[in-house]
Amino acid sequence: MLDLLKECEEAGRIGISGHIRPDGDCVGACLGLWQYLKKCLPQAQVQVFLEKPADIFEEIKGFGEICSEFPEEEPFDVFFVLDCGADRLGEAEKYFRTANKTINIDHHISNPGSGSINYIRPQVGSSSELIYDLMEEDKLDRDIAMAIYIGIIHDTGVFQYSNTSPATMEKGAKLIRYGFDFPRLIQETFYQKTYLQAQILGRALMESIRFLNGCCIVSVIDRKVMDFYNVEPKDLDGIVNQLRNIKGVECAIFMYQSGVLEYKVSLRSSEKVNVAEVAAYFGGGGHARAAGCTMKGTFHDCINNLSLHIERELLKS
Ligand code: 5GP
Ligand code: MN
Repeated sequence: MLDLLKECEEAGRIGISGHIRPDGDCVGACLGLWQYLKKCLPQAQVQVFLEKPADIFEEIKGFGEICSEFPEEEPFDVFFVLDCGADRLGEAEKYFRTANKTINIDHHISNPGSGSINYIRPQVGSSSELIYDLMEEDKLDRDIAMAIYIGIIHDTGVFQYSNTSPATMEKGAKLIRYGFDFPRLIQETFYQKTYLQAQILGRALMESIRFLNGCCIVSVIDRKVMDFYNVEPKDLDGIVNQLRNIKGVECAIFMYQSGVLEYKVSLRSSEKVNVAEVAAYFGGGGHARAAGCTMKGTFHDCINNLSLHIERELLKS
């Protein structure tokens, strides 16, 4: 087991970062760890570097102190990489490269471990759950518990997806004993959408196309549609899950335009297609039931290429 406090005991400056376009798990894990280290190592300076996360996470303690700019810094004594490998850190990668000690904590099977110390557990449902496992129970408090809980609900779809284990539920039970308002947090951070987010979701569903005899579905949102609704990529979170919810769908694909002839692709499957394999083929990664990648070409090029690999996965099963 990795001893977080021992690894940091001599550190004066500690940095924490996670993947670009940070999701709930990434934000929960980073801020949970940030709070814990600040509390247990009051002499150390601890900083979180992340692209600006969605405002729905602003209630998590430490949200306002996240650095979303990446100025030149003295090398960190310890630098944590959470919920990804160094390849998805974006601008924060420069801190990783110069740090004296790097600790990579992740649950992505596609991550071979990029730190000088690695704690990679693909069988665990979220990075927040991993951080919880590494913390000493008597040092937890309500704010730390809330950060971890939000991370867990986001990556497990509120304890629904197959990455939820009995142990995940037991940890959830322990966490809600700290007394935060979990029904409201689930509603406001996971289910609630703004009017514009709901409209673009409706549009994506309306324009979706089924293929491979209806067991796959795809929808795409182009830049001009995003501009029309005045939405950013983080407003599109959750659309792919709604596509997968459609009866008969084994594999759902959602793509949005991220550049000229470039699409960010999200993949979800129900029980057969290993989408991590499909995404990895195109340079991305993720989990068997949820993965992603970035692809070049027209929408039709992308979907033709994806469809070949999805069909191959379907034939395997
Ligand atoms: P989402 O579709 O929600 O963006 O991502 C689903 C899962 O796949 C997440 O665990 C996410 O970290 C992973 N993922 C998404 N895009 C990429 C990518 O481009 N590269 C890698 N390695 N993982 C990705
Ligand atoms: Mn995660």
